[in-house]
Amino acid sequence: MMIYDYTNVFARILSGEITCKKILEDNYFLSFYDINPRKKVHALVISKGAYIDYSDFFSNATPDEINGFFQGILKVIKYLDLTTSGYRLILNTGINGGQEVPHLHVHILGGEPIGPMVYA
Ligand code: AMP
Repeated sequence: MMIYDYTNVFARILSGEITCKKILEDNYFLSFYDINPRKKVHALVISKGAYIDYSDFFSNATPDEINGFFQGILKVIKYLDLTTSGYRLILNTGINGGQEVPHLHVHILGGEPIGPMVYA
């Protein structure tokens, strides 16, 4: 079992040690703009709780935390006015998933066509 690394960059953003370009937050999620945007709109939604990835989160979070996180993604999508034009959610997990930061997060990409789903 992996142990949550409290020194990861998103943990530092949650603790206020590192600043971010905040979009929205509540008790369950914090959203901010990706520091290295890959599309016109590139937001991140992270859980307030210390969860490493999707497996850890869905296995160990409370129903309120799970609901709050996914509702948070929807709130950000609406706030960024992406509902009609569309968007892509990405949740990289683990080594093969290309996850760089070991704290649960979802990417919201939009504002322009996102392109192929994956590169072969
Ligand atoms: P992933 O590969 O899914 O773990 O994505 C991690 C994302 O976090 C990357 O898109 C990075 O550009 C982004 N990132 C890393 N550090 C920061 C930071 N300090 N503020 C905002 N985004 C960050």
